[in-house]
Amino acid sequence: MSNIHYYGYGDFLANNIYFLLLIPVMVLSLWAQIRVSGSFHQYSQVSNRRRITGAQAAQAVLRAHGVYDVEIRSVRGNLTDHYDPRDNTIYLSESVYGAATIAAVGVAAHEAGHAVQYATGYFPIRVRSAILPATQFGSQASFVLLMIGLLLYSQAMFLVGILLFSLTTFFQLVTLPVEYNASRRAVETIEGEGLLDGEELRGARKVLGAAALTYVAALLTSLLQLLRYVLIFAGRNGNDRGRGGRR
Ligand SMILES: [Zn+2]
Repeated sequence: MSNIHYYGYGDFLANNIYFLLLIPVMVLSLWAQIRVSGSFHQYSQVSNRRRITGAQAAQAVLRAHGVYDVEIRSVRGNLTDHYDPRDNTIYLSESVYGAATIAAVGVAAHEAGHAVQYATGYFPIRVRSAILPATQFGSQASFVLLMIGLLLYSQAMFLVGILLFSLTTFFQLVTLPVEYNASRRAVETIEGEGLLDGEELRGARKVLGAAALTYVAALLTSLLQLLRYVLIFAGRNGNDRGRGGRR
C-alpha cells in the first residue's frame, strides 16, 4: 500500500471539505454548550415568585396530561436530569428537584414532558426506543468495520460501516422532534397552570432553547461525520477507476 494510494486526490478533497465544515459545526456545538450551562446557571439564581420547586413543576406537567404512575426522584450531579422509561421515573438533579428557581421549573417540566410522551405513545419516541438497540450496536460495529475497511482497503466493509454509522445519525434526527415536543409540552403547562409569570417564562424558554440547540449541534456533527465517510468512500472509488478499475 503506497502513500500516494492512501493520500490520493479523493481523500485529500474529502478531508478538506470535512475540515471546512467542521469549524462552524464545532463553533455551534461549543456555543450551544456554553449557552446551556450559562443560561441554566443564570436562571438557577432566580427564585420564581410562586416558589414552585422542580419536583412540583414535574408533578404539575404529569397531572395536566392525566399521567399519574410516574415517580419523581432526586439524582446526584449537575445537569443530570432525565426520564428513565425502564423504571418510569423522572430523575431530577439537586439544583432542580427541591429548588424553586426559574431554571428548575423549566428543566423539570421538560423531563416530565418526556414521561408524558411515553405515557401517550408519542410516535417519534416510539421510533427512538425501537431503533435504540440497533443504534447502540451500529455505533460500535461501524467503528470496527470502518477501521478494517480503511486498513484492508475493503470498500465493501467500509460501505457496511457507513450504513451502520448512519443509524446513529438517524437516531440523532429522531431525537430532535422528541426534544422540541417535550419542551413544547413543558411550556404549555407552565403557561396554562401559571407556574411562572411572563418574565419568568421567558427565562425558562431560554434555558430550554439552549438545550434544544445542543441536539441540533449533535445532529450536524453526526451528519458531518457521515459526509466524511461517504466522501472517502467515493474518493476511493474514483481512485480505483483512475487506476483501471483494479479492486
Ligand atoms: Zn429532553
